[in-house]
Amino acid sequence: MTEHDVVIVGGGPTGLMLAAELALARVDVALIERREDQSVAGSRAGGLHARTLEVLDQRGVADRFLTEGTPHPGVSFVHPLDMSDLPTRHNYTLALWQRHIERLLAEWVSDLSVPVYGGRQVTGFAQDATGVDVVMADGQHLRAKYLAGCDGGRSQIRKTADIAFVGWDASVSYLIAEGQTRQEPEYGIRRGLQGVNGLGKHEDGKGVRVVLIEPRVNHGDTPSLEDLREGLHAVYGTDFGFHNVTWLSRFSDAARQAESYRKARVLLAGDAAHVHSPVGGQGLNTGVQDAVNLGWKLALVVHGLAPESLLDTYHDERHPVAARVLKNTLAITALSRGDDRTEAAREALSVLLEMDEPRRRYAAMMSGLDIHYDLGEGHPLLGRRMPDLEVATERGAVRVFGLLHDARPVLLNLGDSRALDAIPLPARLKRVEARYDGPWELPALGAVAAPVSVLIRPDGHVAWVGDGTDQGLAQALERWVGRDQA
Ligand SMILES: Cc1cc2nc3c(=O)[nH]c(=O)nc-3n(C[C@H](O)[C@H](O)[C@H](O)COP(=O)(O)OP(=O)(O)OC[C@H]3O[C@@H](n4cnc5c(N)ncnc54)[C@H](O)[C@@H]3O)c2cc1C
Repeated sequence: MTEHDVVIVGGGPTGLMLAAELALARVDVALIERREDQSVAGSRAGGLHARTLEVLDQRGVADRFLTEGTPHPGVSFVHPLDMSDLPTRHNYTLALWQRHIERLLAEWVSDLSVPVYGGRQVTGFAQDATGVDVVMADGQHLRAKYLAGCDGGRSQIRKTADIAFVGWDASVSYLIAEGQTRQEPEYGIRRGLQGVNGLGKHEDGKGVRVVLIEPRVNHGDTPSLEDLREGLHAVYGTDFGFHNVTWLSRFSDAARQAESYRKARVLLAGDAAHVHSPVGGQGLNTGVQDAVNLGWKLALVVHGLAPESLLDTYHDERHPVAARVLKNTLAITALSRGDDRTEAAREALSVLLEMDEPRRRYAAMMSGLDIHYDLGEGHPLLGRRMPDLEVATERGAVRVFGLLHDARPVLLNLGDSRALDAIPLPARLKRVEARYDGPWELPALGAVAAPVSVLIRPDGHVAWVGDGTDQGLAQALERWVGRDQA
């Protein structure tokens, strides 16, 4: 039986990102994908938020996406939020359809030589004390030390692992379709009692894309053409001669989250771990960032350099992030309704969100820049993303994100180099001596005191902040960097 250290089921955005992270960490990883190729039905996600662009920048591949997308200076939480004054190089949202995002991720994964079992469907698995047997529909088996279920909202892996998917049933369902119209439709949004309907031009400039609220909550993602025509008539009084439909699907505001992101040797990420309404454009972004949190931890455990308990920090850190996303989608859905009282609530909220402080906080939240992992009390940087500062080294100016390209941890010392000499450092850790005299500013928090040294995890989050001494560094290294190879 073919064996790999890690098998990922699902080659959507989450599985692809995880495959790249593991390959960078020299893990023998393989990906199983049901689709024959990377083509995506319909438009789905429409862009990348700032933190996702930052994590791609940390790996040196952001330019691949930036050259194809279009920057927009804001995000939205019911009300549009300008984010051009947030302290990040990527103070915008990049408009780019999911099919392009997946293609670019897949090209990167291919550059990293990850084997892909394409056109194969996983039907189940069995795990024992040493690994997982993954079963495919064609009868083939693969053996892995760990299995990552990145197989979307209806995750077979989650179901086979018997992990509860808890949350809220749908209160509204929407039809989404792409096709052509005989009459010029009324482009733009039209608010209905239950929320927003929208008609826009397809990216090819010829077709039309429509999102419609259904008169009653329906389930299943295979609506009929009749459903579409009825829906158009109900909202617009005409179906605009909609024909040549190339994509017709349904989504809802149901919001559910896996109770646990790990069951022994099985891990869940992306839509397999959390589903919710697309409002706010959070799903793909959250999945890609799950993968960046999980990849280096799984690599340390697979290489025998850290205990299995490190994998529990993946659930501890990422579960609250998606729980907040779910709540936000419920709030946005409720605030999108078209009755007079909701309209009044929207107006009141808009007044608040036009004030600088709430605007910056909500923009930082919706763009993922304010994510804070609970790593204990201490300096405000602890558990937050490291800013992409330009620091001066002996070799000249370098960007902090440039130091993270190979997904290794970094000890950045900006003070007296002797202060950290007493502690033996693992070989995998990159120690960088540098100088930086500029301000330290964090999204949502504003200016913070300059640290003397920082331990940066491969995902770009700060795991230790030094004040000119090495106090606490040994413990942080043991917890987040792991042992040296025996
Ligand atoms: C209309 C719409 C608009 C959206 N807009 C946005 C947006 O603007 N921003 C945003 O961030 N998100 C958005 N989303 C959400 C986004 O599309 C998803 O969150 C994202 O695709 C999740 O990625 P994933 O890799 O976790 O799962 P998926 O993209 O679902 O990928 C799962 C993969 O697993 C494969 N697979 C499944 N089961 C098996 C199996 N048994 N064996 C082998 N392979 C399998 C599938 O073929 C698929 O390729 C939108 C979604 C919709 C429907």
